[in-house]
Amino acid sequence: MSKTTAPKVLDDARGRLEFIYERLDVSEDARQRLAQPQRVIETAIPVRMDNGALRVFQGWRVQYDTTRGPGKGGIRFHPDVNVGEVTALSFWMAIKCAVVNLPYGGAKGGVKVDPKKLSRMELERLSRGYMRAMYDILGPDMDIPAPDVNTNPTIMGWMADEYSNIARGQLPGVITGKPLGLGGSEGRIAATGDGALQVLKIWSERNNRDPSSMTVAIQGFGNAGYYFACAAQKLGFKVVAVSDSKGAVYSDEGLDVHAIWEHKNRTKELKGIVYSEKSVDDEKDVDHIDNDELLTLDVDVLALAALENQITKDNAKDIQAGLVLEIANGPVTSKADEILADRGIPVLPDVLVNTGGVIVSYFEWIQNRTGDYWTAEVVGERMRARIAEEAATCFDLAENENISFRNAAYMQGIRRITQAMDDRGNQGYFNGD
Ligand code: NAD
Repeated sequence: MSKTTAPKVLDDARGRLEFIYERLDVSEDARQRLAQPQRVIETAIPVRMDNGALRVFQGWRVQYDTTRGPGKGGIRFHPDVNVGEVTALSFWMAIKCAVVNLPYGGAKGGVKVDPKKLSRMELERLSRGYMRAMYDILGPDMDIPAPDVNTNPTIMGWMADEYSNIARGQLPGVITGKPLGLGGSEGRIAATGDGALQVLKIWSERNNRDPSSMTVAIQGFGNAGYYFACAAQKLGFKVVAVSDSKGAVYSDEGLDVHAIWEHKNRTKELKGIVYSEKSVDDEKDVDHIDNDELLTLDVDVLALAALENQITKDNAKDIQAGLVLEIANGPVTSKADEILADRGIPVLPDVLVNTGGVIVSYFEWIQNRTGDYWTAEVVGERMRARIAEEAATCFDLAENENISFRNAAYMQGIRRITQAMDDRGNQGYFNGD
């Protein structure tokens, strides 16, 4: 993909690398390898609709870099998804897996579709069609997808089943985030939210902040946002606001996140068990605020758990939160990052904060390959231990080098990736330097 066609989100993602390259003295070979994705596959997926008509959906799989292991990354179903976005997300996956030292490269998939407009059977045909189209480039040793926005365990189960049908054998390690009965892992569904809370907890401890004196607003009350809200409340944080794509609710007394979640999901069956028709905006007895207003609330922690590009150069000056926690991928643009840094608002970065999901996906892959299944306690303990260790290294690096948390996390990830690239031999090696 040329630089001119690459959408802004991708330029933004790669733009952050220059600073890191300079500091780490990264070899020219490694810079060249990381300048573009290794493989970009675009496919057209024909789906027979319930009324007999045929619709063709555009889909992608991008493997950004597989130097450290097979590709790993979710599949997103969204009407606005495009190859640039999928590429940026695959790049972030490469960094993220390296930040927490998983033996994976980075990949991502997407289908341009509004899944809420499909019936359950149409959704199944589309999911199986995606797997048929991508079969040759996916596999437990090649590239292992997982859920992302608008995809879930049910969809992963259909895809794993389709893969096994084609392979004529059971290969559950081809995909993670599956339902428990199909080889999923205990603890996967809550892992991203739990992991994000773990990073926030470590930051709070290092800054002598008591959770029970801290307020939290959460943009994006989906899988990651909801489980983060539950874990945060359990530790004593007061969740005062949550939003979804249709609206936001606020209470300075703190919200009952379980009740709101239940309400949001009550009519799920309307769209065949997979998607909710309801919004937090339908909630009664709480204050309703604009989505934009949630972002500018005067809270201790603003957790971003929706989509990318939510805090930009246009609204960064209005953010009042004491800390921004990136649970979504890329919710703060690099320009906004600079403005927040100038204003003294720290940002805990996506490539560290949202790694709970991919860590437990890695555990699921190990369990599938060994046949040894772990309890929820073991999964949770091992995930938290790994995040704690890697977060502590990032925080130390940020402190010692006087750099942002994001730059510290990127340094940690890029150092591991470029080390692996150099271990395969670089210009210096071949020139005998
Ligand atoms: P999800 O689809 O379950 O939830 C997304 C939520 O964001 C929905 O409630 C949606 O209504 C809401 N939303 C969308 N646009 C919004 C807006 N403008 N304002 C407020 N809310 C908005 O998706 P998810 O799995 O929770 O993922 C959320 C983010 O976290 C994504 O960026 C994803 O890539 C990232 N992430 C998720 C996981 C995971 O395991 N679920 C892992 C790593 C990263």
